[in-house]
Amino acid sequence: MRGDLSDFRQQLLAWFDDAKRDLPWRQDPSVYKTVVSELMLQQTQVRTVIPYFHNWVRLFPDFASLAAADEASVLKAWEGLGYYSRARNLHRMAKAIAADGIPADLAGWRALPGIGPYTAAAIGSIAQGIAAAVVDGNVVRILARLDDDPTPVDGAATAQRHFGPRAAKLLDSHRPGAYNEAVMELGATICKKAAPACLLCPVQAHCDAFANGTAHRLPVIPPKASRNRVLHRAWIVCHASARILLNTYGPNASRLVGISELPELLQPPETAPILTRSRSIGNNRFEERIHPIAADDPLAAAISRLPGHAWHPADSLQRVTISAPHKKWIEQLLAQTVMH
Ligand code: SF4
Repeated sequence: MRGDLSDFRQQLLAWFDDAKRDLPWRQDPSVYKTVVSELMLQQTQVRTVIPYFHNWVRLFPDFASLAAADEASVLKAWEGLGYYSRARNLHRMAKAIAADGIPADLAGWRALPGIGPYTAAAIGSIAQGIAAAVVDGNVVRILARLDDDPTPVDGAATAQRHFGPRAAKLLDSHRPGAYNEAVMELGATICKKAAPACLLCPVQAHCDAFANGTAHRLPVIPPKASRNRVLHRAWIVCHASARILLNTYGPNASRLVGISELPELLQPPETAPILTRSRSIGNNRFEERIHPIAADDPLAAAISRLPGHAWHPADSLQRVTISAPHKKWIEQLLAQTVMH
């Protein structure tokens, strides 16, 4: 990074104070709103989070009301955001805070479920003024570009180890929360992954990559091997009772506990799929083939007896917490299905 460090901080913060987006967790801010927004924003874009955030603080306005809620209603309010472990962690966190109070330092935040170094630093700095620098994809991208640093970043651990000390050095300890938010805002709106808007950048004069014409090549991220899997699912509708068969994942399904999806088939049946869809989770790409199975087929009876599998009325599926892709596919299939 070129130029004076205090000028850099001052230019970044002046830009942020003027240009920051009007996000709901920035209005009338509180520790609770910061925690909810940070958990929701993990893996999810701001525009997707905003309606969920509004609904969440309406249903659960503070740690105490969230702690007192039952898990089914917590998961229902999260339905469609994905990565449901975040909702369960938020719920457990609210219970711990209702019992023991709000943590006063980063170690206290790190001891709570679902809080890693990034989230602890974000919550601590934004809500409590703790001088801790955040390191996430946005920050790594900006630091790599400011320093024209070609160090390969192959994961969060490398990012934290290599860029953590640099981020800590640049942090403005007088306004750590605003500084962290400013860097994140810069990454989200100006210093984007593809096509950084360098001509609009408030810290362009400090950027080595801009001066050297290398911004588009940074950061260097080695490609990860992706894995493809085919999953076979069952579409089983009892037309007479207008119900469909779903599986609700039990406690051994780490990611989807309490969430319902179409039943998975260990073997593909002879029927051709009526719907084939793909989705990616991390580096894994899943092709899901949904096969129709008649409700009076012995296979349907066998599936219905498996743990977690149950019939649900097709006209009240809104009471069931269904993963977002499956909800969409079920709606598509139901639109083509005639009940009698
Ligand atoms: Fe990013 Fe360009 Fe600004 Fe450098 S000048 S920080 S590459 S937007």
